[in-house]
Amino acid sequence: MLIWTDTHAHLFDCRGGELEAVVDEAEAAGVWTAVNTAVSIGTARVVLDQCGRFPKNLKAAVGISPFDTVEAADNWENELKELLAGHRSLITAIGEIGLDDTNPRYPSIEIQMPFFKRQLEIAIDAGLPAIVHSRGIEKKTAEICRETGVSKAVFHCFTGDRGSMEYIIESGYYISISGIITYKSSHLRDIIQHIPVDRLLLESDAPYLSPTPQRGKKNKPAFIIHTAREISELLGTSERELSDTLKKNAAAALGF
Ligand SMILES: [Zn+2]
Repeated sequence: MLIWTDTHAHLFDCRGGELEAVVDEAEAAGVWTAVNTAVSIGTARVVLDQCGRFPKNLKAAVGISPFDTVEAADNWENELKELLAGHRSLITAIGEIGLDDTNPRYPSIEIQMPFFKRQLEIAIDAGLPAIVHSRGIEKKTAEICRETGVSKAVFHCFTGDRGSMEYIIESGYYISISGIITYKSSHLRDIIQHIPVDRLLLESDAPYLSPTPQRGKKNKPAFIIHTAREISELLGTSERELSDTLKKNAAAALGF
């Protein structure tokens, strides 16, 4: 059986039996590990509770996303540090954190920036990798990671251009590819040819972005097998070889 790691999923909306079903289905598909990723302090508490129930299958990433900065309480930093101190064994990364410059309805970059920088410092202090969201501002985001002294970062659901991809790679960071690559018009189908295979990761970004042929359904970690198949075809490697490579990469990037 081929084993896969889903390096980015949001399962905090799964209630009761749904979470168990999602975990069972993932395991049956070979997706033995998923990084259950928070976007706020509230969702971090749910994620930690879920990871505590399925510690073998789910690893937690905790942090405040660029979209959730406006609603964060003034003492968010203490709350995040308390979660880190209390649940360190369940937490594999700080995330998702980052910058998004694609829509004027999102919090401004001026609002997003201090959250991003401070959380990068928290990741460094905790000795954890950062799981970074960046859209429309990829190169600058990687620059800030470098300036802050971040050694391990995963650029999740990468959708940038080739230049920003190369800058991220030069900086020593990882690039995670979602189901978007299965969409026939995606520019990622070209870009992936140029990403060094030892920096490549795979993610569902569930419940969003279901890969073809599950497009339109609520996404879940089990569906990354479709994305994996597409990547192995695009790269001309066997799925077994890809599985081995991605397993090593996930271990190197996220420490498991
Ligand atoms: Zn996400």
